[in-house]
Amino acid sequence: MVSLKSKLFCTCPTDYRGKPPNTNICPICTGLPGALPVLNVKAVEEGLKIAVALHAEPSSASYFFRKSYFYPDLPKNFQITQYDKAGGVPLAHDGYYTLKKGKTIRIERIHMEEDPGRIYYEGGRGESRFSLVDYNRSGIALVEIVTSPDFTEPGEAREFLELLQKNLDEIGINVSEYEGSVRCDANISYAGGERVEVKNISGATEVEKALRYESVRQRNMATRGVKIRRETRSWDERRRITISSRSKEVEAEYRYMPEEDLPPVSLNQAIIKNIALNMRGSFEDRYRICTKYGVGEEAAKRLAGDPALYTLFMSIVGASGMDASRVGNVLANEFAFVVKKHNNPSLSGDISSLETIIRAYISDGDRSRFISATYSWISGIPVRAEEYKPKVDIDALIDKTLEKEIKNIGNLEGKRRLDYLMGQILKVSSQLNRKELYIKLQKKLEELG
Ligand SMILES: [Zn+2]
Repeated sequence: MVSLKSKLFCTCPTDYRGKPPNTNICPICTGLPGALPVLNVKAVEEGLKIAVALHAEPSSASYFFRKSYFYPDLPKNFQITQYDKAGGVPLAHDGYYTLKKGKTIRIERIHMEEDPGRIYYEGGRGESRFSLVDYNRSGIALVEIVTSPDFTEPGEAREFLELLQKNLDEIGINVSEYEGSVRCDANISYAGGERVEVKNISGATEVEKALRYESVRQRNMATRGVKIRRETRSWDERRRITISSRSKEVEAEYRYMPEEDLPPVSLNQAIIKNIALNMRGSFEDRYRICTKYGVGEEAAKRLAGDPALYTLFMSIVGASGMDASRVGNVLANEFAFVVKKHNNPSLSGDISSLETIIRAYISDGDRSRFISATYSWISGIPVRAEEYKPKVDIDALIDKTLEKEIKNIGNLEGKRRLDYLMGQILKVSSQLNRKELYIKLQKKLEELG
């Protein structure tokens, strides 16, 4: 994730491009004994943005594991990653992404891990007499997105990566800014043969080329009656061929075990909601977020189509905890009506005043008062909060509630009956003066006996 300034578990800078080898390194990202990783919280936030963009469900608690393998780019001999078995929970799971023609690609999981170092062959892999290693990249945060095997031809894989890359740029992850910030491992099996994984493909156009090459290679093997083995290959961009790199470790050989130097990543709903609300993005993103919070289709379209209105919606819902669907509907309808009528002024007034006006309107439905208050607000006339105390007829509300709850209060006596009814009424109208409500309700119940 190039949008981050520092690595996943240490404070080393991430801008290794153009830097001399092995300069952005420290004991943590070179895995020296005794070094302790500390999770970069910003990385979790960025990961969550990606999860929201892919309609995935963030996990309330996820864990880091050690994935052991021996390779010169991995100085600790294990990579800190997330795992979906043995009690492992990834950052997010079960999302989907839709291609242009409407085909849906399922997203199995999204997890975070650290990047290994970079092996460098002077003059190209085939010619070089040495393998050199640069740890500047070691420990940089990666978000791995695992899809289900839903692609049926190489072009779809290219389209998926292209769309995703554009989408991630829009939400501020800036994946297109640097070459090599999107990498792809593609699995392909031909006509029921064993699965071949092509690793480290550098982007959308390359993934299509690599998969086309592999499908031809595997088809030729199948025609000649050669059995296709499960293996890992790498894509040589220059020669446009895949090369067998090492036979794939079976899962057990990675000896996954919990990374006990790191606590679980725990996320509460408020953090997740906040991230979703603060995401910039395309019309589609804004629309999706509006509907996710219960705003009806038509209203969501209007909010998503007007970034200023959308920003108001986000600020009010994020700060007030009001019912997002009702706020969205008021903004997209009555509020937008006033704004349009007054030649679309800049909507830069005080948010808490607008919140007060909307709250009052939601509670008492007084449309003409709302319209004049909105006009004041967009004209910069100060709104006095005390004028917008919701006007609620407490007596009528008590009668209505008693009528509705008559069956439910039969078994309740005295204070329990009173408390239950208080709860029901406050659910409907939370701004009521509790003391006044309590006294009136008590009186009413006494009258009823
Ligand atoms: Zn470091």
